[in-house]
Amino acid sequence: MRVIVTGGAGFIGSALTRKLVGEGLAEVTVVDALTYAGSLETLAPIADRAGYRFVHADIRDRAAMTRVVEETRPDALIHLAAESHVDRSIDGPGDFVETNVLGTFVLLECARAYWSALDTPARAAFRFHHVSTDEVFGSLGPSGAFSETTPYAPNSPYAASKAGSDHLVRAWGETYGLPVVTTNCTNNYGPFQFPEKLIPLMILNALEGKALPVYGQGENVRDWLHVEDHVDALWTVCRRGRPGAVYAIGGEAERRNIDVVRTLCAILDDRRPEGAPHDRLITFVTDRPGHDARYAMDISLIRRELGWAPSRGFEQGLAETVDWYLQNSAFWQAIRAGRYGGQRLGLDPAARAVSR
Ligand code: NAD
Repeated sequence: MRVIVTGGAGFIGSALTRKLVGEGLAEVTVVDALTYAGSLETLAPIADRAGYRFVHADIRDRAAMTRVVEETRPDALIHLAAESHVDRSIDGPGDFVETNVLGTFVLLECARAYWSALDTPARAAFRFHHVSTDEVFGSLGPSGAFSETTPYAPNSPYAASKAGSDHLVRAWGETYGLPVVTTNCTNNYGPFQFPEKLIPLMILNALEGKALPVYGQGENVRDWLHVEDHVDALWTVCRRGRPGAVYAIGGEAERRNIDVVRTLCAILDDRRPEGAPHDRLITFVTDRPGHDARYAMDISLIRRELGWAPSRGFEQGLAETVDWYLQNSAFWQAIRAGRYGGQRLGLDPAARAVSR
């Protein structure tokens, strides 16, 4: 099977590519613009393997995307390239609209042109798999969960741009018959995550003896999914998901942010006792504007229809993730010294003035 993975040098796309190439499941062409969030180090473990190819290109570049699709002649295109950080979308929403909405449009059009010219069996087998987020559904109260039928209510510019891309994908399926499938999943964690996101940011700040900035009172709840469980789900859906279907994916591991940070501190107290107690570094800071209170996913459909369920306990996965960051300092030290040092992002100007 030949697959194009967009955003394959990022956190989730690289985990998917390492799995597909590393386990010999598919030939993979990665398409990635290598923005601040992408890096070839994430693909180093499989860089010399047969069946892997990297194309440095921007998904908004129609000529380049047409070329990649025609050269690769894929059986599936798994689309993960995106601007992905909510805080950055508050500071600069333009890139999010351009990459997440317009970039998805370009890919849909290139895929449609290629797919239309295939023979009937190949047309039926082809998949355009769009990888999206639970954030398109907005915010939950203390109970209940999102599912495939929850109405869209995005609150951040990031969520709105992903919602826009989901709608385009659906429309290309309904209008042109392109065999699309969309997955909406909860917060991922695990190896190679860019250290602007909560879990790696807290691990690295704690290791460096820096403040652990918890937004608001840390009461916001997220459902955590290990990235390797997520890529198992993606590959399951890509091969066996129904064309036109949407699948909700989650880790069934709801935790308050403050509890995640306290658990990380306890793991680090064990691994690095010289810095203990790490929870003395916890600092409550001005909340993110429009911060969603709670996310949770009802994953009954994917469990029932495709037999997928998360396999890792959250505390076990978190401890493994801490150990990975301890053992792979070359990955994050270069980032911390250059592209992103850990500074606060995503405060609107009024809130920034107050917090000074
Ligand atoms: P990431 O930021 O780690 O990686 C994104 C990748 O896309 C990077 O390698 C970047 O270079 C590339 N990219 C960005 N703009 C591009 C462009 N214009 N052209 C080509 N490449 C471009 O993101 P991630 O956490 O791996 O997320 C992957 C996908 O999964 C995204 O679509 C995101 O919305 C979705 N998602 C992520 C999570 C999560 O918790 N991380 C949860 C749900 C859904």
